[in-house]
Amino acid sequence: MVTVTAVQTFNNLINGEWVASSSGNTFDSTNPAQVTDIVGRFQASVEADVLLAMESAERAFAAWRNTAPSKRAEILYKAADLLEAGLEQYAEELTREEGKTLASSRMEVKRSAQTLRYYASEGLNVSGSTLPSDDPTTFVYTRKEPLGVVTVITPWNFPISIPVRKIAPALVTGNTVVFKPASDTPLIALRLVEVLHLAGLPAGVINFVTGSASRTGTPLVTHPAVKAVTFTGSTGAGETINKAVRLSTRVQLELGGKNPLVVLEDADIDLAVELAIKAGFELTGQACTGTSRVIVMDEVHDLFVQQLIAKTEALTIGNGLYKGIEIGPLANQSQLSNVLDYVAIGQAEGATLAFGGEHLADGEYANGYFVRPAIFTNVTPKMRIAQEEIFGPVISIIRVSSFKEAIEIANDIEYGLSAAICTSDPNRAQYFIQHIQAGIVKVNRPTTGVAYNAPFGGVKMSSTATYRESGRTAVDFYTQEKTVYHG
Ligand code: NAP
Repeated sequence: MVTVTAVQTFNNLINGEWVASSSGNTFDSTNPAQVTDIVGRFQASVEADVLLAMESAERAFAAWRNTAPSKRAEILYKAADLLEAGLEQYAEELTREEGKTLASSRMEVKRSAQTLRYYASEGLNVSGSTLPSDDPTTFVYTRKEPLGVVTVITPWNFPISIPVRKIAPALVTGNTVVFKPASDTPLIALRLVEVLHLAGLPAGVINFVTGSASRTGTPLVTHPAVKAVTFTGSTGAGETINKAVRLSTRVQLELGGKNPLVVLEDADIDLAVELAIKAGFELTGQACTGTSRVIVMDEVHDLFVQQLIAKTEALTIGNGLYKGIEIGPLANQSQLSNVLDYVAIGQAEGATLAFGGEHLADGEYANGYFVRPAIFTNVTPKMRIAQEEIFGPVISIIRVSSFKEAIEIANDIEYGLSAAICTSDPNRAQYFIQHIQAGIVKVNRPTTGVAYNAPFGGVKMSSTATYRESGRTAVDFYTQEKTVYHG
């Protein structure tokens, strides 16, 4: 059982001080596995709070941009150590607030510490270039400079690792930050800000504002101080932000996905099933890179479906804090309603609900947002369950009779984030790598799971691809090049 303790109220961080919102209101973050468990109480911020955060970030920029890069790196290294020192506490808080299993939360916190260290070191590699000059008396070179205030807006599904892969490169290159986390997961986001603060970030370099997007979203993205907005979330919210920002504000949008796993007739079927379960159902299907379409060749279709159902049936669903749990709850009521709606839509469209899809609402599940993972067969490519992002544990299986057809169907969609193929034929794997429309391609690996030191992002409606997140080029989004002619 989760121990119920007094509910703690947490504040915003503005100009180095933990302060309450001027609204005087708070909201609760609750445990999606047991909604009566209140994880914490947070500030319901309004425009006035965002304005204070912006002013604070703008003031702090002048000194932070001129702080020695090695000093900035040192703070990130220290924050990484603090994060790791509190790993068990933070992992438990993450699970309690978001629902994923404790093992997944531990991995996420650990990964966040690694990401901080990675950018601490990358910060010392930010470099411009020297150029051949026709005029021997003039030295021509470029230098990379920070932008100014960066707004960071993040979703609840990776509530610490996504913020850290934006905040760390922004800070280490000399920018200041105003960070608004998802309203479902403010506690773990606050822990990240707390370790950065404790590690010695000067006042105002990071500012943290919680509260609903409807009260804070517009000033966060339109304030004149904002030089860049980095956002991860739904495609709809991304489009709204894109329309709202000023012409002079850079925008990085990491959006939705509808990721395919293609299973060829020469695939190792045990492996194909493992990949579908890992990327489709672990994290309760709530990963932007999750597998939601499996495109299977005729020859192995029935065997694949049979084994997928058998393995899915055996998955243990429950509170992610408990040992042995493999699938946690959905993150909130709207996620639950959305998944149940799509289960109904799929049936109404004529697909066969071959397994699961029911709301688990009794006994140990009574106070949480639990659903049994759903498997649809007889799905045709244009059905809504094959085209729209569900963001839950629902796999749509599409049967095909050729490799060419598999690729056409995989590409016939507005998204293009991650894609995988399961095959033992290296030539067809190569062909797939070349022809699939996706930012990330996996061969015999799940569509989920990415390296913190590799570029991350999608194509089409999954991402605005000017700058990739993560990897060596991630800092480019947070810097601008100045060209110098020095006589
Ligand atoms: P969401 O509803 O779009 O919210 C994401 C964040 O944006 C939250 O902090 C939200 O605040 C805020 N927000 C929403 N509308 C806004 C607006 N108009 N202006 C400013 N801020 C706004 O997404 P979600 O439900 O949290 O996350 C699920 C989505 O994220 C899925 O579509 C998934 O594919 C996508 N995702 C993409 C990636 C990727 O890297 N491509 C990774 C993870 C998730 P509130 O919480 O207060 O509403």
